[in-house]
Amino acid sequence: MNKFDILKKYFGYSQFREGQETLIDAVLSGRDALGIMPTGAGKSLCYQVPALLLPGITIVISPLISLMKDQVQTLNQAGIHAAYINSSLTENQIAKALQLAAKGTYKIIYAAPERLETYVFLEFAKQAEISMLTVDEAHCISQWGQDFRPSYLKIVRFLQQLERRPIVSAFTATATEHVREDIVCVLGLRQPELLITGFDRGNLYFAVETPKQKDRFVLDYIKAHPAESGIIYCSTRKNVDALFEKMQDLAIPSAKYHAGMGQEERRQSQEDFVYDRCPVMTATNAFGMGIDKSNVRYVIHYNMPQSLENYYQEAGRAGRDGETAECILLYSPQDVMINQFLLESKEQNPEFTEEELAAIREKDTERLRIMNYYCLSANCLRAYILNYFGEQSRGDCQNCGNCRKEFEETDVTAQAEKIISCVREMRGRYGINVAAGTLAGADRAKLREYGMTSYSSYGSLAELGEQRIKQIINQMLMEGYLTVTPDKYALLRLTGKSDEIAQGMGKVVVREVKGGLSSLPEKPAS
Ligand code: ADP
Repeated sequence: MNKFDILKKYFGYSQFREGQETLIDAVLSGRDALGIMPTGAGKSLCYQVPALLLPGITIVISPLISLMKDQVQTLNQAGIHAAYINSSLTENQIAKALQLAAKGTYKIIYAAPERLETYVFLEFAKQAEISMLTVDEAHCISQWGQDFRPSYLKIVRFLQQLERRPIVSAFTATATEHVREDIVCVLGLRQPELLITGFDRGNLYFAVETPKQKDRFVLDYIKAHPAESGIIYCSTRKNVDALFEKMQDLAIPSAKYHAGMGQEERRQSQEDFVYDRCPVMTATNAFGMGIDKSNVRYVIHYNMPQSLENYYQEAGRAGRDGETAECILLYSPQDVMINQFLLESKEQNPEFTEEELAAIREKDTERLRIMNYYCLSANCLRAYILNYFGEQSRGDCQNCGNCRKEFEETDVTAQAEKIISCVREMRGRYGINVAAGTLAGADRAKLREYGMTSYSSYGSLAELGEQRIKQIINQMLMEGYLTVTPDKYALLRLTGKSDEIAQGMGKVVVREVKGGLSSLPEKPAS
């Protein structure tokens, strides 16, 4: 049998989806593989098909007991011998399953990472022929991931104890560069076939708007899209309640959802939305998990979310049916502050040490910054998202707010050079506001107190004004000519790329909507 026979016989499909074959072929030729695909893309098949073609057993590490049960059940129904070993079984049941496994009864064995360290499991694994070890939800191994699980590190120790290293394949839907690098590095993947695919949702239109009155924008939008189903995401319960009330006043049939509501009330609300009794849902991010409503025509974010991962997941609830849908983010610079506050007051797992907590906070801040840059970017929004998730994109999707606008470009490299001189003089002690004030030569007590007035860069960009200077600094941050410390102070620092400007190797360009106001909001974020 070959891979096509297996696909047909056990899974009932006649074609592979994008990317599946590449990963399957790599594994079958003995290579390690890392597959990064969004949820629903069909990752399981990428290890299940080769598992049936490889001579020995495939062990699949999975973090969720419920997921393992489902998978094994489905496989068994398809006539594939598979089993799971986790804490839902008694010691006796585990011993029995491993006995059968040792006899070669199963081709695929699912196990929780904790299991790998136990004596019985290790003894079994040392004696059995293990062809492949597959790590599902592989982002759990990375401290950069949102669901870091220390128990995933046991996989590495487990592998080291096997006499013969099996092929290692790993799968995840989280694809940021840091996570990707961590997976390869921590798991010790050897020249893996790396495949990132399927993140693009071509039917979704992306836009960032900066309306003066967000309520007005939302209500007008709903009125202009009558009878369409949509979700309005707000960052706080208070915002949800207030917006919901306004909709009630205007007799817009809407539902609301947040964690402050009772269980029954939430269930009712969700049902009203899913069954189209209330086409509009106003909610916090507590809403949406596991909800399968295919005809959502728009998702509006009343506030900027805390990360691009969150944004894409929430916005991605639009247009599941493949028809066109809109994802609009209403940006205001205060959202950065509110989110920073929310992150700082977030309840943390008490098991983490102070050091680990600091690292998590740093990463949260970094994710928030990347989200903020999305809102400030004047380039293709789809490309921004896809690049963040590691997928290549041409950058001219023609189906996002920025691609549809006409921009004017201004070369500001000369100004960028002066900004770099100022940042150098500040020696990492100040943020964007002080820098802009200094360069503009602002007459402020604070600047005098800090001694900025004696800087050679003081007033060196006086002709521009602070807003414009901040705009250029933001552009430089986005392009990596400058960076900021990963804390709430966001102190400006030079980068390895900063010198390129003075050496004539770099170029900074700002893009602005033609004939209109700057695409950047009044008050750039810190
Ligand atoms: P993921 O793990 O990436 O979230 P799954 O492996 O659960 O996704 O697959 C999602 C769905 O797609 C499943 O119902 C699966 O049977 C289906 N699927 C996978 N590969 C194919 C294929 N080649 N053709 C048709 N359907 C497929």
